[in-house]
Amino acid sequence: TVVTRFAPSPTGFLHLGGARTALFNWLFARHHGGTALLRIEDTDKKRSTQDAIDKILEGLEWLGLDYDEDPVFQSERGSRHVEVAEKLLEAGYAYKCYATTEELEEMRAAQRAAKQPQRYDGRWRHRDASEAPLGSPFVVRLKTPEEGETTIEDAVQGSVTVRNEELDDYVLLRADGSPTYMLAVVVDDHDMGVTHIIRGDDHLNNAFRQLPIIHAMDAIEGGWPQPVYAHVPLIHGADGAKLSKRHGAVGVEAYRDEMGVLPEALFNYLLRLGWGHGDKEEFTKVEAIELFSLEGVGKSASRFDTKKLLNLNGHHIREADNAHLAGLVAAKIGPQADAGLLTKAMDVLKVRAKDINELAEGAQFLFSKRPLEMTEKAAKLLDSDGRARLAKISEALHAENDWTIEALEATTKALAEQLELGLGKLAQPMRAALTGTTTSPGIFDVLVLLGREESLARIDAQAA
Ligand code: GLU
Repeated sequence: TVVTRFAPSPTGFLHLGGARTALFNWLFARHHGGTALLRIEDTDKKRSTQDAIDKILEGLEWLGLDYDEDPVFQSERGSRHVEVAEKLLEAGYAYKCYATTEELEEMRAAQRAAKQPQRYDGRWRHRDASEAPLGSPFVVRLKTPEEGETTIEDAVQGSVTVRNEELDDYVLLRADGSPTYMLAVVVDDHDMGVTHIIRGDDHLNNAFRQLPIIHAMDAIEGGWPQPVYAHVPLIHGADGAKLSKRHGAVGVEAYRDEMGVLPEALFNYLLRLGWGHGDKEEFTKVEAIELFSLEGVGKSASRFDTKKLLNLNGHHIREADNAHLAGLVAAKIGPQADAGLLTKAMDVLKVRAKDINELAEGAQFLFSKRPLEMTEKAAKLLDSDGRARLAKISEALHAENDWTIEALEATTKALAEQLELGLGKLAQPMRAALTGTTTSPGIFDVLVLLGREESLARIDAQAA
């Protein structure tokens, strides 16, 4: 059975990279009928905030990622982390290091001078605690293998090998007895029964350092299987550089609130960002669960592409339920918006909209108060010619009792023929008078949505 986890550090937003990691873990678990877990890695108390935790939880929920158990808070598991470190120490897989800060600084300076990689040189690995002055502070370090090499069959990166001499004997317990992040991750993954670790490839090096803990604990007590690793390439900006604040790499809520993106569109976009299934672009949640596999995850970094996100957003807007969209649009427009009218209008409004802001903009005319504000272009259409034509239209429409698209279209066409004008010559000033703009849904849709009374009032207000 499959168990995955998403393990964010709550030090900021749920950014796109994190959201995609969360998505892949969630999809993999759901695809296999497994368990999706969430762990908040809040051990860095100085950088972790409640606000960040709330934002992450809210972002995940908005994206539609649910979890099978309450989140695990890493900071609450400190005593368990210490327990494992003590087992490692007792069984000889870890040791106490009494090197002082000054001593380590000297060591590193010498390594720098010799142009060697700076890493702990294992100086206390073979020394005995009795050699240290009584009561001196110490840290607990892991004995990592010194010779040979370690290979990980990563489900995304393929076979990756590291020479063990590159692994330092890193710290498990600090001088104050507190566990380090590297230890905490391994212990938590084990205790949560995680079978597949899917995360950013910036953690690939950590996997090689984390494995010795797993192997040691398995030798000590058994039941510490090696998880499957899948290190997913990072997301880059359109310019090819790692996605950062500079690219507007903000939290997912900014895509919702500022860009007007639907969660199902961001879900779809993040899925396609680094994962593919033939040339299929559009995925529902159900399809994504059915089709997701780690084999489909690409090895190279993916580039963030706003245009593609908005194209997908347009697609999902057209697929979305009209009443639901009306609620989102009403929230953008404000108290004057009427969700019932918006729902009725949604089929014609959503044809071309790429985001909720555009939808709201396109719907604005429904709630405009007379006299309408005119865009510059609209005002131009309402010159003396335009106003004269509006007067004719007004006359014809006042006589029209059947306020349906078909009847209104027939009447207007008849008038155009009678005046020997193209239909556009009538539709343009009508559009200006009815919406205050030069772009809107079809003019007969507009007449029907606004209703007889309001339509005639708007036309008459501009007619000569
Ligand atoms: N907390 C780490 C991060 O946010 C993830 C650790 C992991 O997935 O092993 O980058």
